Amino acid sequence: MDERCGRAGDEPTDLASDLATEYNIVEIFHSVQGEGFRAGIPHVFVRFGRCNLRCEWCDTDFDTYEVMTALDILAQVLEYPCKNIVFTGGEPMLNDLWPLSRLFHRRGYHLSIESNGTVEIPEGLLDWICISPKDQMYPNAHIKQRVGDELKCVYVGQPLSMYDDLRSGFNHHYLQPCYDEKASVEENGRSFAITEAVVKEHDDWRLSLQTHKWMGIL
Ligand code: SF4
Repeated sequence: MDERCGRAGDEPTDLASDLATEYNIVEIFHSVQGEGFRAGIPHVFVRFGRCNLRCEWCDTDFDTYEVMTALDILAQVLEYPCKNIVFTGGEPMLNDLWPLSRLFHRRGYHLSIESNGTVEIPEGLLDWICISPKDQMYPNAHIKQRVGDELKCVYVGQPLSMYDDLRSGFNHHYLQPCYDEKASVEENGRSFAITEAVVKEHDDWRLSLQTHKWMGIL
């Protein structure tokens, strides 16, 4: 039996198995990317549950999620007037993203990912790869995805020389202050000032700020 959906002659057709694939989803929302190279561009954020790391500053409750099929995700994303998607988390690469990649690419979407880099990303799966390594906290978390568009490192005082090898695989290099929602305004302010000072000393890095947090949006 042909598992493709759609009437004869219709384009596009989707695989029934792709539409039925289940994912653990924390939330889906339409907002403006607040950080990194694509800051300012509207995106639909698809936030996946589960992560293989537990960073102390993590701002996502990735253990609370609901099971959605790819069809559910597609239906919700189609409600927004936006052709850019960010897969974020949690760690999106703990999932098989090929079904979503096929469904959205077929409809002309641009797919970005924010990943901790501990899982290799297959060629052609996505259009924009942002890796935010956490080996400053987890020295044994080997970074397997060593090429991409954007390397975005949360700065907590680590030596920048630890990225000497990794940098060459990425086009853009960002340092981002560690914004801790549990910390005081003064503590976060100190983190911003320290990161700004480091970027001034290392002009081969650019400063990335989580502007969406200042604006009070998701
Ligand atoms: S890798 Fe990202 S999602 Fe996972 S715990 Fe760290 S900050 Fe949170």
